[in-house]
Amino acid sequence: MLKRFLTNYRVFFNSLYYYRLAGTTTSHNICWKCAQNLTSNLTFCAKCQAIQPVYHENFFSYFGINKSFSLAEEDLKKRFRQLQSMVHPDKFGKSSPKEKELSESHSSFLNQAYKTLIDPRARGHYILKLENKDKPIQDNEFAVEIMELNERIEELEDVNEIKSSLSEVQDQIKSLTDALEISFQKNNYDEANKCLLRLNFYERTRKLLLKKLK
Ligand SMILES: [Zn+2]
Repeated sequence: MLKRFLTNYRVFFNSLYYYRLAGTTTSHNICWKCAQNLTSNLTFCAKCQAIQPVYHENFFSYFGINKSFSLAEEDLKKRFRQLQSMVHPDKFGKSSPKEKELSESHSSFLNQAYKTLIDPRARGHYILKLENKDKPIQDNEFAVEIMELNERIEELEDVNEIKSSLSEVQDQIKSLTDALEISFQKNNYDEANKCLLRLNFYERTRKLLLKKLK
């Protein structure tokens, strides 16, 4: 438990550190084991094949894809499985403690990166954070609307009615996700923030409905 916490903490720290570093310096990374310059591949040294610390600038660069809200999910899944097979701690059973530790850092980073990018809502929040454009917004009218909707849902008892509400909420989530994609394409971050706020509300409503169906 503690070990996992420490690994996650390190991953978090590394990602912050290198995010900052990438924007401020032009320094390059060298292999900790043989001092070779790491140019094309930041995860494994081209000369001695040693696994490296997590040097990547962000989750997108870790997967070798462009920083963009629009992404091909199947392609991301494929890249995830490929990377997972390369950095998984099981592959480092006979390696040195340092290499084992690095593989654990990569595995945590990879899982966190995948979980974030595969989910449109988490991906949207992540991009806004990277761009320094995430801001708390209020939409009182919408909040009241959702509160009333949730109250109506709480009272629903008929399974078919619950199912039909769920399908309506899922349609809303779908069209808001489409609107979110368009706002990112237009670099309209205010609109993206608004869509995400609404998506967060609808997500809670969706969970509420699913709980009622159990
Ligand atoms: Zn090396």
